Amino acid sequence: MIGVVAGNVNHLYPLPRRVARVRSMPRPAALDPLFRSLRSIKGVGPQLGALLNRFFGGEGDAIALDLLMHMPVGIVDRRLMQGIAGTFVGHEATLKLHIDRHEPAPRNMPSRPHRVFAHDETGAIQLVYFRATGGWVEKLLPVGEDRYVSGTIGIFNGIKQITHPDYVVPVEEFASLPLVEPVYPLTQGLSSKALTKLVRAALATVPDLPEWIPSDRMAQFRWPTFREAMTSVHAPAEPADSELWAPPRMRLAYDEYLAGQLALMIVRATLVAPRGIPRTLTGEITGRVEAALPFALTDGQRMALADIRDDLAAPLRMSRLLQGDVGSGKTVTALLAMAMVAESGAQSALMAPTELLAAQHYRTLAPICVTAGIGLELVTGKMPAADRRAALERLASGESQIAVGTHALFQSGVEFHDLGLVVVDEQHRFGVEQRLALTDKGSHADLLVMTATPIPRTLVLTHFGDMAVSTLREKPRGRQPIDTAVLPVADYDRVLARLKSRIDEGAQAFWVTPLVEESEALDVTSAEDRFAELKKTFGDRVALVHGRMTPAQKDEVMGRFQAGEVSILVATTVIEVGVDVPNATIMIIEHAERFGLAQLHQLRGRVGRGSQRSACLLLYKGPLSETAQARLETIKSTEDGFEIAERDLELRGQGDLLGTRQSGMPGYHLAVPDVHGHLLEYAHDAAKALLARNPGFTGAEGEAVRTLLYLFRKDLALPLIRAG
Ligand code: ADP
Ligand code: MG
Repeated sequence: MIGVVAGNVNHLYPLPRRVARVRSMPRPAALDPLFRSLRSIKGVGPQLGALLNRFFGGEGDAIALDLLMHMPVGIVDRRLMQGIAGTFVGHEATLKLHIDRHEPAPRNMPSRPHRVFAHDETGAIQLVYFRATGGWVEKLLPVGEDRYVSGTIGIFNGIKQITHPDYVVPVEEFASLPLVEPVYPLTQGLSSKALTKLVRAALATVPDLPEWIPSDRMAQFRWPTFREAMTSVHAPAEPADSELWAPPRMRLAYDEYLAGQLALMIVRATLVAPRGIPRTLTGEITGRVEAALPFALTDGQRMALADIRDDLAAPLRMSRLLQGDVGSGKTVTALLAMAMVAESGAQSALMAPTELLAAQHYRTLAPICVTAGIGLELVTGKMPAADRRAALERLASGESQIAVGTHALFQSGVEFHDLGLVVVDEQHRFGVEQRLALTDKGSHADLLVMTATPIPRTLVLTHFGDMAVSTLREKPRGRQPIDTAVLPVADYDRVLARLKSRIDEGAQAFWVTPLVEESEALDVTSAEDRFAELKKTFGDRVALVHGRMTPAQKDEVMGRFQAGEVSILVATTVIEVGVDVPNATIMIIEHAERFGLAQLHQLRGRVGRGSQRSACLLLYKGPLSETAQARLETIKSTEDGFEIAERDLELRGQGDLLGTRQSGMPGYHLAVPDVHGHLLEYAHDAAKALLARNPGFTGAEGEAVRTLLYLFRKDLALPLIRAG
């Protein structure tokens, strides 16, 4: 039996990682070693511990499981042991060397390397160390003794050498050499050696787990157990063991898909549980809203509203995704959906990701709501306490039918008289957890999620389960096309001169600075540099906004830009989501070759919102890679978000399109859709069959499945399963 567990699940938002929230279905004790903080591993002190916590990005301490789920991206093969004569320059090799003599760097020339001369029966080689003072090299490689040395073979003046060998071990410790060594994504301050050691320590603690995959499927695909699979991936005997298409990794990908599908199905079964009340819609309030709009609805908007009307009239809870490109008119569609709910006597909440966007929605909706006679409230964290209290009272009494706000709307202290619909706007970080927490405010509330990232259908299925989808494909009529130009950065002076004349005429512009891979700090530096440079020409008419500012600081700057007090807004990509400044008609993107297609499209969508013709300048620095060129050509040739999304998919592969970094979409760690996508179908069927066969997760099979859900952090869905 699946049903909502009575009680308050508001504490799930935001989700604390280590709260024990399942009383009836506790974590199987076998998993305890994997949920231990990394701080408990020998050699992990406060500094490394903090680094690992940041690296793995969770809310609490990183745990051993995080290490296991950190998949290698390649393999170093050090098995070549043919002696010095048998090595190839540029390849890894492992040699048993006799150490002959040391030649330290001369005292007056510390930049010269320390050289160690060594040989085996097949030839001679030098080991090279830069900045090797203090005698540690002499201790590592004692003259007259033998050592195993592993590293990349180089050549200098015709003599083979290894610069900074990866491993040097005494002969009797040969077994400790990782001859086949996984390569992991790293971060500054975390060496490959240190990470590998930690992963091995975590690997040693993996217990034998009850099996959740039926034995016939295991046999069919020759899959190993979870523990064996983890061992093959992290400590492979052969490079082939850890390949993406080898059975161990296939099995892990399947596990991840299975856990995801189970969680989605459990949650979906809960969310679409009978609302019990088919809503009765009179058409009265929606009619007044439509009359108050200064335009006619597009066909897409009409069709989406028909879908929503059907959902509301049915006795099941609505769980619908409304996707439409930037500027396709999602907000008005949401307003009409909320008007329908008001007709049936219930209330709606519209949640925006930032205070600025909430305020923007409020300003857009307020005049229409006044005309149509709908009570509308803004609820944010920073509004004056008295106003907030008054707004909350009108929501609690049912006097107002619509609340617009940030996630503050769902914190304690906010009571609705009868919350019937929750609309989430531009919420990219919207996982299963958030869905649960939001709809809990109104125990029967319908859910509408709006997204501007056009997502191909197959991906919608994997990430949103069986959520129904409505799509706004066309833009409202009368929209001006955006003139997009691609220019080399060498044209900077011309760009500046043209910008100046447009600004003098009263235009407003966004200037987006380069994306520096992996480093927000560097992003900020380049924004600050550009800001200083533009200030020379534009003085106070330029402002700066970047990701290191507090939300309040960002809102303040954006607010001034929106009000027209500032003409040019220099920004890192923080402006990407949802900001509406109709007077802004110029978008300049510097180092456009570094941005992804979807990102370029979202950025360009910030202009072209008013009635005036807009321009987008993509400044690039050559030489361009083939894909960078293809991206810039695509963005120049079309404004259709779906076409762009599909092209993006071709250029990058779908795994990356929803990569967690780029879009914040719930992503996969182990499964790579391009390689493992076919397993999703199996996982889907298996999850369905399992829930039908054993809905209470009882017995040995139930225990195994619960283990799986805990391993993949999907245990949040477990409280929804009622024992029995
Ligand atoms: P988004 O889908 O990006 O959230 P918005 O809802 O902000 O788009 O709409 C963008 C602009 O288009 C707004 O100014 C809105 O008033 C306008 N708009 C919405 N629907 C229509 C329509 N049917 N005809 C003309 N303009 C429309
Ligand atoms: Mg919008």
